Amino acid sequence: MSQIVPQPGIMEIALYQGGQSHLDGVSDVIKLSSNENPFGPSDKAREAFARTVHQLHRYPNTDHTALRTAIAEVHGLDADRIICGVGSDEILQFVAQGFAGPGDEVIYTEHGFSMYPILAHAVGATPVKVAERERTVDVDAILAACTERTKIVFIANPANPTGTMIGGNEVARLAAGLPSGAILVHDGAYTEFVEGYDGGASLVESHDNVVMTRTFSKIYGLGGLRVGWGYAPRPIIEVLNRLRQPFNLSEVQMATAEAAVRDQDYVAKCRAENARCRAWLAEALAEIGVPSDTSTANFVLARFASAAEAEACDAFLKTQGILVRRVGGYGLPNCLRITVGDEASCRRVAHAVRAFKGQAQ
Ligand code: PMP
Repeated sequence: MSQIVPQPGIMEIALYQGGQSHLDGVSDVIKLSSNENPFGPSDKAREAFARTVHQLHRYPNTDHTALRTAIAEVHGLDADRIICGVGSDEILQFVAQGFAGPGDEVIYTEHGFSMYPILAHAVGATPVKVAERERTVDVDAILAACTERTKIVFIANPANPTGTMIGGNEVARLAAGLPSGAILVHDGAYTEFVEGYDGGASLVESHDNVVMTRTFSKIYGLGGLRVGWGYAPRPIIEVLNRLRQPFNLSEVQMATAEAAVRDQDYVAKCRAENARCRAWLAEALAEIGVPSDTSTANFVLARFASAAEAEACDAFLKTQGILVRRVGGYGLPNCLRITVGDEASCRRVAHAVRAFKGQAQ
């Protein structure tokens, strides 16, 4: 037998399933499977990307000062406590590496983002799944599941793939109730879709155990660029900074993200358009007999009568060139997660679901 064995936990990892992006033989696929911004990034971000192409022979700046300063100015934060990474996934990874290991427990919730248990296993810790209530994070259930071995609690707020949210008071109650030595990671990937919401920044200021993560992949339309960031109390940031490789982000990534974050007019436009199309789509689906929870993000979790119906609808949508996300792996086999596209895509998907329902009757 081979003596080459991986670290404990690694082979427990269920490989991440990304949203499908191709359909054989279909050229004009409507991709509503990965919560991308249908309009892409702002023109200012595109221009910054093009400009930085001329510096590709140079190593990037290692301390990310310009990007951190831009984020800090736009959001009113302390630049010294911001860390930037390869997507917010990398920030989540730094937290797992820095604060959990063999023998420790990492809590995530029933329908929580699939990277949380992956990261727990990757550091040899034990992922602990906690029930949600009506597809919503349940603070009491999380607090009841905490032990002296709990080191990290991951919640996304708004949550993916449910689109639901809990209020700031509930998050504060969760942070205050955690065992000492445990960190609450408040994953704010979808923050900007909620008007006037700070994504948990004020909770980071008022608690010594809260980390906020954010991303340029969603409202900023830069999923392909791979940039995210985190905000944390100083003792935690000092740990995360030691885990970050000096050249984790290229100048292209940093300059593009900086231009994007400084263009908040574009963010506001995307937020308004998302809210308008999301309301239309949710209502159109409800009229066809496909309900969803009120979504606070850029997708709708469409609920079907059964897993078989959800699967059949997904297959039918593919025949119409439309890709949505099956979420059986998130404990929601009777649901399909549909990203809010532009108006034409929303109309196409609603029309197709209506045709499916007519056909199924
Ligand atoms: N958190 C949540 C809740 C997400 O849905 C995603 C993207 N699917 C991420 C984090 C990671 O996004 P990224 O690494 O692109 O920032």
